[in-house]
Amino acid sequence: MTLPAGVERREFEGRERLATRGEPVYGEPVQGEWRAWDPNRSKLGAMFEKEMDLGLAGGERVLYLGAASGTTVSHVADFAGPTYAVEFAPRPVRDLLSVVESRENMFALLKDARKPKTYAHVVENVEAVIQDVATRGQAEVAIRNREFLADEGRLLAAIKARSEDVTRDPGDVFSDVIDRLSEGYEILQTERLEPYHDDHLAVVATPK
Ligand code: SAM
Repeated sequence: MTLPAGVERREFEGRERLATRGEPVYGEPVQGEWRAWDPNRSKLGAMFEKEMDLGLAGGERVLYLGAASGTTVSHVADFAGPTYAVEFAPRPVRDLLSVVESRENMFALLKDARKPKTYAHVVENVEAVIQDVATRGQAEVAIRNREFLADEGRLLAAIKARSEDVTRDPGDVFSDVIDRLSEGYEILQTERLEPYHDDHLAVVATPK
C-alpha cells in the first residue's frame, strides 16, 4: 500500500511505526520533526495499519467530523491541505485550539456534525470526509455531509457499533449502517478495526 506524501514508516525505539511531521500533541514519541502515530488511539491510524486503500495522496482538502481534542486530526493536518475539524463538545475544542495554533492549514469548528448547514459557509468542497463521531445515527451524519465531498472524493468513516445500540450484535448494526450509507455512497471497502479498536467498522466510500 502506498502511504500519502507526508506519512512514513519510521523507527521509534527499535519499532517501525507510522509517523507524520508536526508539533507533538498527545505525548507521542518523537524523532526530530517526526511524531509517531498510534493506531490504538486513532481509527484512521488503524485503517493505515490494516493497509486499506484510503485514496489519500497527501495535500487533500479534508473535512474531519468528530475531532475531539485533536489526536487524529493533528496527524491529518500534518499531511493534508486545508483541514476543517468539527467537534461539538466545548471541552475538547479548548484543547483542539492549541493544536490549531501550530498548524496554519487547520481550522477548528465548534459545530454539530448533524447540522452541516451551520458550517456550510466556512467549509469548501473537500476531497475527503473523515468521520469518527461516536454518536447514534453515524450513517445519517455521513449522508448529510456528503454535500461537501467532491464527486471522486472519499468518505473514510469509523463506525462504532456501541454508539448505535449497545445491546445489538455489532455485525447486525454494521449491516444496517451500510444499508443506509449505500443510499448516498458507493461502498468501496469495509474492514473491522480489531485488534486496535473493538467493535468498529472502517468504511471507505465514494459519493453515488
Ligand atoms: N476522532 C478523534 C480522534 O481520533 O482523535 C476521536 C473522536 S471520539 C471517538 C468521538 C468524538 O465525536 C467525541 O469527541 C464527540 O464529542 C464527537 N461527536 C459526537 N457526536 C458529534 C456531533 N454530532 N457533532 C460533532 N462531534 C460529535
